[in-house]
Amino acid sequence: MQQLPWQTIDTVLLDMDGTLLDLHFDNVFWLDYMPQYYADKNNLSRAQADAYLQPLLASYTGTIQWYCVEFWSQKLDLPIKQMKQEMSHLIDLRANSAAFLHALRAAGKQCVLVTNAHRDSLHIKLEKVHLAPLLDVIVSSHDYGYPKEDQRFWHSLSEQIGYQPERSLFIDDSLPVLRSAQGYGIGHLRAVLQPDSQGPEKNCEEFIASTDLLNLVSNL
Ligand SMILES: [Mg+2]
Repeated sequence: MQQLPWQTIDTVLLDMDGTLLDLHFDNVFWLDYMPQYYADKNNLSRAQADAYLQPLLASYTGTIQWYCVEFWSQKLDLPIKQMKQEMSHLIDLRANSAAFLHALRAAGKQCVLVTNAHRDSLHIKLEKVHLAPLLDVIVSSHDYGYPKEDQRFWHSLSEQIGYQPERSLFIDDSLPVLRSAQGYGIGHLRAVLQPDSQGPEKNCEEFIASTDLLNLVSNL
């Protein structure tokens, strides 16, 4: 595992779902709970619901709407926010997230949450996991109107927090998002090998995969 040159890193930008939080909640919600709820509500078989929902969901991948609670509530005529509350017992941290953030803060690094999650989802999650006190800034891409996949997100972020891209580390489980950050000039990047604690390991392609967040700070 390639060690990070911490003396040249001031800011750590962290994704939420699949990076600090276990992606298990989101996978269960979007791949099982929501489709079943939709099927039951519309008197469809689960296969019929999946045949409608899967291409529809896929067609919005990487857009700001994909991450928008209100968009899907209207599009599917479902109470998405309330449904997330009903499943919120599944929201949990990934292993060692809190210890990792404590180590970063003890070393004086600026810790910034940068998420594509809608503020409503963010609120539900931060009520469950109490990460907010460990973060200097919490940014939802909905504040800017552009997802992390869009270069305009990174420009807006630099206007808000004044960080140096080349002296920053960004960790995310999405390869298109990592490529967007790389395109903007973020100096240090890490992917996440297993974003869903109950899912498979991921092929992280050109990126260095992080297994345990605490390994990243072993030389801090
Ligand atoms: Mg993520």
